Amino acid sequence: MSLLTQAELTDLNHTMESRTPIELMVWAKTIFGERTAILSSMQRAGCMVCHMAYANRIDLPVLFVDTGVLFQETLDTRDRLIREYGLNVISLSPKQTMVEQVKEFGVLYLSHEGQEQCCEMRKTAPLLSVAGQYDALVASLRRGDGEKRKKVPILAVDPKMNCLRVNILANVTDQEMVDYLRDNSVIINPLHSQGYTTIGCNRCTTPTLPDEPKRAGRWRHLGPWAMYCGINPTDLNQSADQAVDLPDELIDRILGRKVDYAI
Ligand code: SF4
Repeated sequence: MSLLTQAELTDLNHTMESRTPIELMVWAKTIFGERTAILSSMQRAGCMVCHMAYANRIDLPVLFVDTGVLFQETLDTRDRLIREYGLNVISLSPKQTMVEQVKEFGVLYLSHEGQEQCCEMRKTAPLLSVAGQYDALVASLRRGDGEKRKKVPILAVDPKMNCLRVNILANVTDQEMVDYLRDNSVIINPLHSQGYTTIGCNRCTTPTLPDEPKRAGRWRHLGPWAMYCGINPTDLNQSADQAVDLPDELIDRILGRKVDYAI
């Protein structure tokens, strides 16, 4: 095992910029095999990634964190993807129901500190429960979403999960996403057409006005805009020396030092 740092991915990330999202998904599956999964919260971009896997017959499980306080529309979207695309969606849940959590800790999401604790327990911890099972998570973060995501790299280390995030839509524009969803009649969360630009838990998400930033509807009661739950490491302040610990042979394959496969 050796450490692979974010800095060591710099050159590879440059070459990845010219690849299409589907090529990137195929690359991930080729390099990481069965230890690859999609991570989707059933928003527009996550549904786009799910559709790409389905339409191109790239067999990958889909991890979905069900916080227990999601909108019914989000759960229905997940169920439609299972039913109509035949996807293997693995729902990950927190240890406590929200009722149990409130009983023990109170209503956490009403303060900044409480929100961090609540998101940690209801979002990050369920995902961490499968840490060690995957070396790569195919995700749907896009630079077009602005704020902390303006510079999201295609390949990003995730030290907590000890895996790579493969942000296959990183350089996909808003218009390209809208065109793909429309042209392919992709199943998407119906809340998007009701003014919800981004969608999280029902306790902490509201619709946005046309002239508001995309993330204004998240934790509106706490402000300022552009807060993040912390489930995506690149939404936090990451440094170039952050690293993951992976088998040497796998690192060679990632960095293209050992090519014994066809891309
Ligand atoms: S979004 Fe709100 S309800 Fe959901 S986990 Fe975070 S703080 Fe808790």
